[in-house]
Amino acid sequence: MIRHASRPNMAGKNILVVEDEPSIRDLVAFGLRRAGFEVGLAADAQAARTQIADRRPDLLLIDWMLPDTSGLELTRQLRRDPDTREIPVIMLTARAEEQDKITGLEGGADDYITKPFSARELVARIQAVLRRTGPGNADEPLATGGLTLDQAGHRVLAGGRPLSLGPTEYRLVAFFMTHPERVWSRSQLLDRVWGGNVYVEERTVDVHIRRLRKALEPSGCDRLIQTVRGAGYRFSTQEG
Ligand code: CA
Repeated sequence: MIRHASRPNMAGKNILVVEDEPSIRDLVAFGLRRAGFEVGLAADAQAARTQIADRRPDLLLIDWMLPDTSGLELTRQLRRDPDTREIPVIMLTARAEEQDKITGLEGGADDYITKPFSARELVARIQAVLRRTGPGNADEPLATGGLTLDQAGHRVLAGGRPLSLGPTEYRLVAFFMTHPERVWSRSQLLDRVWGGNVYVEERTVDVHIRRLRKALEPSGCDRLIQTVRGAGYRFSTQEG
């Protein structure tokens, strides 16, 4: 069988739509099914949690305004749970304000789409997020900035040689490499890499960043881990 190294196939990906307004829910479901996605529907956060436990979706579309728990709070809860923290989330909202957008992204959403939107735009955004976050090809090494992430082998190589990393440094660099080019605050990193253990202090992140940089230093790859003053850290192949 020939394996194509192109974009992962989106067909059959399972999207859970969490939206209380039936008309929007149906419209979204129709558009997504036509694009080849499998679609699950939930009218509130409680129903969403039940469905996620039943069948883990590949991506969640979560409306900001839900009747029980807000979409933002639901996203935060999912990010705190090790079982669900890797599921990509796109937030739907009627509000266009910049502040809500920032709050949504800080709460753990991977992207944000403002109503009204076309089915075409929605599908394009979903495909972009799935490509960006997708572990769909976890068996294939991911190479960027001189580093190679070999998730199947649970190791990272620099210049072809495996780095000696502690388990936390490995998880940290694996997270960065699969979520590059954006700033992550210390608390976001705690949620996503440590699993939201409330007993871990934020400065712990700095300690592990230092260790990771030290391990990357001989290959010159420590420059990939950028400090963004007052905000957090970013993995980037571009100059900070
Ligand atoms: Ca709503």
